[in-house]
Amino acid sequence: MPFKVAMVLVGCLSFAALSCVKGGSPGTPPVAVKRTQMHMGTLVSITAVGQTQAEANAAVTAGFEEVKRLELLLSTWIPDSELSRVNAAAGRSAVTVSAETMTVVRKSLQVAELTDGAFNIAIGPAVDAWSISTEPRLPTVEELDALKPLVDLQSVHTDVWERSIHLQKPGMRIDVGGIGKGYAADQAVLVMRKAGAVAGVVALSGDIKTFGRLPDGEAFPVEIRHPRKENEILAQVTLQDEAISTAGDYERFFEKDGVRYHHILDPQTLQPARGCQSVSVIAKEGIWADGLDTGIFVLGAKRGMELVEQLENVEAIIVDDVGRVLISSGLRDRVVLASDH
Ligand code: AMP
Ligand code: MG
Repeated sequence: MPFKVAMVLVGCLSFAALSCVKGGSPGTPPVAVKRTQMHMGTLVSITAVGQTQAEANAAVTAGFEEVKRLELLLSTWIPDSELSRVNAAAGRSAVTVSAETMTVVRKSLQVAELTDGAFNIAIGPAVDAWSISTEPRLPTVEELDALKPLVDLQSVHTDVWERSIHLQKPGMRIDVGGIGKGYAADQAVLVMRKAGAVAGVVALSGDIKTFGRLPDGEAFPVEIRHPRKENEILAQVTLQDEAISTAGDYERFFEKDGVRYHHILDPQTLQPARGCQSVSVIAKEGIWADGLDTGIFVLGAKRGMELVEQLENVEAIIVDDVGRVLISSGLRDRVVLASDH
């Protein structure tokens, strides 16, 4: 699936010093283990804190196995993934899917409702037309107009009892690139807890979920990248049992005649959305944080922040189209902005 590239960095420096500490016997401190691998088209970094090195290691391994398992269900880059099979059967038949795929698609439809259709997983044909992740090109207006009838959530039918999904029109394609990594982070955390981790971080580039606290008792620090200053930080926030997800127009883009064309598309126009430079959403679950960051990016800074203020346990930092930083009311005393943002 076309997942976004890195833009949020987890401040895990404190872990490096801890990973050599052996725990296990009473009174010894917990141990942190961190590993990084490529999955879902991006760098996945998993850190687990356990009572022993073996426990922390096992939790990290379990986390990666879960991410790989979900990729095989949800990726549209893998021809026989469940979602690829749903897409291949568009206009013909319903396809039976796993509970996980069903959850992602049903939650996607809920995010679509919350964002007035700004989040739309039927965006697949338009994503393909721009092919920003592979061979970026500028589709013609006529080409995009012809695709508009396919970007139609009313034609995505889910049957919860049969656990099946049917795309009504030939040529429709579901793309969960805007929500799937957040879900994968949630699920990885579940298996890590089961494996005995007492705390940890799962980061699929900018989709990050944390649980528990660092061995020194501190909450996990997370840094948000500046959307226009490469390698610079916009803000820092600490998280506990929370997820953060960032959608930015700097992640995947190309420029032509001075115009930036990026990977987050407005379902109305099928053109790159223009209302924001970046949107970071904090929520309890990664699936909400990830779905909402994309939807809010499309809604634009003003409508997006209005939505955040209405939602419980959802906070956001939005950089609008001209670079102004908006912080939701519940986050203002938790965020440290870089001095020269
Ligand atoms: P994110 O980085 O979470 O904003 O996700 C971006 C990815 O979501 C893109 O690469 C597309 O695969 C997909 N996408 C693009 N536009 C939309 C949209 N309006 N609604 C849902 N998914 C989208
Ligand atoms: Mg997203």
